[in-house]
Amino acid sequence: MIGQCVRPLSQIIFFILSPGLFSSAFSAVKTVASQIAKRQPLEMSTAILTLLFLLAFTFVFGRFFCGMVCSFGALGDLVFSLGEAVRKKFKIGRIKLSKRGEYILSYLKYIILLSIIIISYLQMQRQLHGKSPWDAFATLISGSPRFRGYEVGFVILFFLIIGMGLIPRFFCRFFCPLGAIFAILPPPLIPLKKPAKASLIHRACGGCQICTKACPAGLDLNKMESPMDVVRSGECFRCMKCAEVCPQKKPALHLLSLRLPLIPAIVLILLLFIILLKVFGLI
Ligand code: SF4
Ligand code: SF4
Ligand code: SF4
Repeated sequence: MIGQCVRPLSQIIFFILSPGLFSSAFSAVKTVASQIAKRQPLEMSTAILTLLFLLAFTFVFGRFFCGMVCSFGALGDLVFSLGEAVRKKFKIGRIKLSKRGEYILSYLKYIILLSIIIISYLQMQRQLHGKSPWDAFATLISGSPRFRGYEVGFVILFFLIIGMGLIPRFFCRFFCPLGAIFAILPPPLIPLKKPAKASLIHRACGGCQICTKACPAGLDLNKMESPMDVVRSGECFRCMKCAEVCPQKKPALHLLSLRLPLIPAIVLILLLFIILLKVFGLI
């Protein structure tokens, strides 16, 4: 239900309503760095409001923006599904990175974030023009695609799309500078919990690791050991695939100690997201 209906529907709706939220939010990071360097007072632009809103929402609910809203994340999901269909047809196995490789690559996004902040602080943003795969993607979805001036961006986008077809959430996990900001936020107020493997106190989880294998963030859910452990990692996209595939429907969202009914909770969170976007004039 979540994978076939809720998540794709949400991604389509937000793609129509507001496909550029991610690039708008990230442009605010560059603006803030540049204005700090110029010692100018910060003006509350739409981009800065978008960034603040996404940070606050993610702090409360987790990265639902990444899991179910962001159009670049949706592109990653779509391309990976197409890649899976091709692999299935031609009976090709998935590429698997080693844990060490994943760990090292996951730091790339912080290096990219820092580099962009430094470039913006040094007032050299013009050097970045046309080189961002986001900008290239934004011209594609704008309805009037422009290729001139965006050649580098399109070449990078092409290689990213190949990576997205091979590895789930390839860009989000390893390269996204906005994702890097979300990943260092404190754990969300509404946590995702997954019972640990059978223990004396909690025997409900079979420890089958299906959730671990399905996690596009590569999180080792099976290694969590307390009886009712919380997915604290900022790398969790809140895609809810772990909850969807668990044969016992064990991973769940919690409010205080209350287990929330999953699909109504996700739908309410997404509705609240739309309402707040409207209230703040962001759509
Ligand atoms: S990590 Fe970046 S590209 Fe991926 S869904 Fe989140 S904001 Fe979008
Ligand atoms: S899929 Fe469910 S039962 Fe299997 S390890 Fe994960 S939480 Fe436990
Ligand atoms: S832990 Fe669950 S919700 Fe988080 S990224 Fe992995 S599968 Fe998605």
